[in-house]
Amino acid sequence: MFDEKTQKIMDEVVRLKKEKNAIILAHLYQRPEVQEVADYVGDSLGLARTAANTDAEVIVFAGVHFMAESAKILSPDKIVLLPEIEAGCPLADTITAESLRKKKAEHPGAIVVTYVNSSAEVKAESDIICTSANAVKVIESIPPEREIIFTPDRNLGDYVAKKTGRKLILWDGYCNTHQRLTPDDIRQAKAEHPNAKVLVHPECRPEVVALADGVFSTTGIINYVVNDPGDEFIIGTEAGIMHQLTKKAPHKKCYLASKKLICPNMKLTTIEKVKLALETLEPQIEVDPEIAKKALQALERMLAIG
Ligand code: SF4
Repeated sequence: MFDEKTQKIMDEVVRLKKEKNAIILAHLYQRPEVQEVADYVGDSLGLARTAANTDAEVIVFAGVHFMAESAKILSPDKIVLLPEIEAGCPLADTITAESLRKKKAEHPGAIVVTYVNSSAEVKAESDIICTSANAVKVIESIPPEREIIFTPDRNLGDYVAKKTGRKLILWDGYCNTHQRLTPDDIRQAKAEHPNAKVLVHPECRPEVVALADGVFSTTGIINYVVNDPGDEFIIGTEAGIMHQLTKKAPHKKCYLASKKLICPNMKLTTIEKVKLALETLEPQIEVDPEIAKKALQALERMLAIG
């Protein structure tokens, strides 16, 4: 499946992993060769849980910056490496701790629910974190009379508000990659594959979500494809998911809803950089202990809900 040179580097990564007592956690949007050397491949919720429970001394996080920060907050005694330090998330960058403090001042007493795609500082200013897999449950855990500020993804917030019937004060952030998927892309994909079910991520815009047969986190999409009796699916999330879909449901036909669904930040992590990170134990992610303490409380509230 991989060329000889790539396979050699992958073998070396596996050897280094053992030597350094390291675990590699990879997001589903990572490159196939990076997913293949990982000990765990999943969405943000699964990755957070794995980071919280690992016995390894070193966590190599193949993902973007906020994910590695969450791993460090959940496992402060471990060395957490982010192979490409420039791998950020434009959605997480739409909000700062200061801008959130301003919003909180406008709505005193509101509960702040923050999507995991956010910096440690923003998490520290939040009451509870959510992922796309548990956002509905998190909102439902909040007493109905409480006002809720939902940050930073307005599309996920809109989806959750509709699902729960709750009125949410939405932050105006969005994921550039999922936002690129348009209703016309879905209509075209459906015209090409009339028997396929449309499964999309809730980071997609509401007009796209409205055309979908199912709305799930990345792990939720994979589980749906594996368990559904149907055998054709149009997939509305980042292209990296196709690797696991091919592995887990090899007999089913999955079509990416648009070629535009590629997150450049997720693709910054290469197998060469993973190898270098293991060799040098750099770049390490650090989080200010005071910020980490507050962010941990918000993350643990989420993990307690599921
Ligand atoms: Fe951020 Fe979107 Fe890329 Fe995920 S896919 S890292 S939310 S920009």
